[in-house]
Amino acid sequence: MCGIVGYVGSKNATPILLDALEKLEYRGYDSAGIALVSSNGIEVKKTRGRISTLRSITGEVEAGGCTVGIGHTRWATHGEPSDVNSHPHLSRSERVAVVHNGIIENYIELREFLAEHGYVFSTETDSEVVSELIDYYYNGDPIEAVRKAEMQLKGSYALGILFKDYTDQIIALRKDGPLIIGVGEGENFIASDIPAILKHTRSIFRLGERELAILTKDGVTVIDKYGERIEHECEHIDWDVDAAEKGGYAHFMIKEIMEQPEVIAKTINPRIINDKRIDLGLKRITDDDLRGIKAIKIVACGSAYHVGVVAKYFMKKTLGIPVEAELASEFRYDDPIVDEHTLVIIISQSGETLDTLYGLREARSRGARVISIVNVVASSIANESEDVLYTWAGPEIAVATTKAYSTQLVLMNLLNWHIANVKGLMRDDEVARAITQLREIPEQMNGMLSDHEQMQYLASLFFNCHSVFFIGRNIDYALSLEASLKLKEISYVHSEAYAAGELKHGTISLIEDGTLVIALCTYRPLLEKMVSNIKEVKARGAKVIAIINHDDTQTEGVADHVVRIPECSEYAIPSLTIVPLQLFAYYIASHKGCDIDKPRNLAKSVTVE
Ligand code: GLU
Repeated sequence: MCGIVGYVGSKNATPILLDALEKLEYRGYDSAGIALVSSNGIEVKKTRGRISTLRSITGEVEAGGCTVGIGHTRWATHGEPSDVNSHPHLSRSERVAVVHNGIIENYIELREFLAEHGYVFSTETDSEVVSELIDYYYNGDPIEAVRKAEMQLKGSYALGILFKDYTDQIIALRKDGPLIIGVGEGENFIASDIPAILKHTRSIFRLGERELAILTKDGVTVIDKYGERIEHECEHIDWDVDAAEKGGYAHFMIKEIMEQPEVIAKTINPRIINDKRIDLGLKRITDDDLRGIKAIKIVACGSAYHVGVVAKYFMKKTLGIPVEAELASEFRYDDPIVDEHTLVIIISQSGETLDTLYGLREARSRGARVISIVNVVASSIANESEDVLYTWAGPEIAVATTKAYSTQLVLMNLLNWHIANVKGLMRDDEVARAITQLREIPEQMNGMLSDHEQMQYLASLFFNCHSVFFIGRNIDYALSLEASLKLKEISYVHSEAYAAGELKHGTISLIEDGTLVIALCTYRPLLEKMVSNIKEVKARGAKVIAIINHDDTQTEGVADHVVRIPECSEYAIPSLTIVPLQLFAYYIASHKGCDIDKPRNLAKSVTVE
């Protein structure tokens, strides 16, 4: 979702801003722009489309050699992607320029208020009210103007602000949206994420909720919501930008698929003591608290929600208590029934998913115990949870998640066994055995990844298909949801995931000669039912690819093609089953020539509701 950058120093700001915006491209965007301030006033260049288009129109400002500026990649929420709706927004008085990430919920009200005072609007965005409102309150004191404007804003915002009268500073402010400050020597930065500025500095800190920062080339001053000056200690970033580069693969997505064995090991290993005991490092939620848990709700969006659906099946079975997976955007508004005996598990790769963040707050306000599973350290969800378990997947750049999904899944297994163990439902030796089996996943997965040609071949047979059905039962159904989403996201092929037994209650009418059905058949107790379901669709002309266990002898003669999961424990099956399906989606999209890492209309980190 949208990226913000800002630079104040002695160098030419334009190339620095453009370069930083490019590093945030992975977040998804539809337009881009920059604003520069100098004694000649504020100059804005912005356009719909890619940063390369922005580059082609910034020659003039670049030649001007301004040393202070802000930049933005927009992911439209209010008003179509267009040149005029792009950020930065310059107030009509040309005194204030603003870049905004988030949504101003009361912007209509604010527009009316400002219109009464003679303000006129030229964009359809919610964000334009921010520049005009600050202008309205501006009386020579920028901080006062920003704070007064902020008092009237409802919603979420990360802001970068320039004032025409202050040619040596940027102001930054955030609420419910990511924003970091990079501290350099004789130069300082703002950005939505670290890769944007890593080339220039490795000292960063995250701006807290409603904190306001004033950046000049010589320093950064931070003021909290009470108007008090506060100090932040800088974090030293020791990972490299290279980690966020493609490393020889055609796309980040395939690179990230291939990285899964490694990051799964990184996520599991530090949490295993002496090869047999789980230590999750929970700080606030004690074993006693876990013993008192009577229900679990897993709250997430998109693929993270699909992890929740898989986990729901195995947790219910292990723990014998109600476990539900809920979409965060629904959970939040559904008067959730949770209390101090409910464990709410929040899952989010970015840790900034706004629907999920609000779900978390709703759960906490009702007294539930909250553990989050997050990939980005010190992100908003991590900060606001009682306890956080990090997936050590490293930066995930492709918009469609693969390695974050896989690490979330193994972490859910560890959490499940840990809870079962403290509740006395799994003995120490059972936990030790389960751990050993989980730790076999990376090697088994490596084997599957080296056999990726089969999926490449199958994709070459089916890349022209118009519609695909994924069917499965129990955990296979949960995996179907993710497999189907993956295909839709990156290849734009319509697909649906169906509980296999449900197909005949309506959707089977869509099966016709040649329709591709991918049948997930790894859940042993219901294999025979799956075979019948395959026969039902075959009888109506479907072509069937079945994903089967290594020892399955029933499906082979029934399906048109089979993909075998290697011999592995029952705990490993879900983690391994998703791999060929990720590859299938990737190769279909590749055959179709899609923009795989940046699918249309999608954003990596969804920081709006
Ligand atoms: N709501 C703003 C808009 O639609 C900002 C969206 C974003 O975060 O990029 O322009």
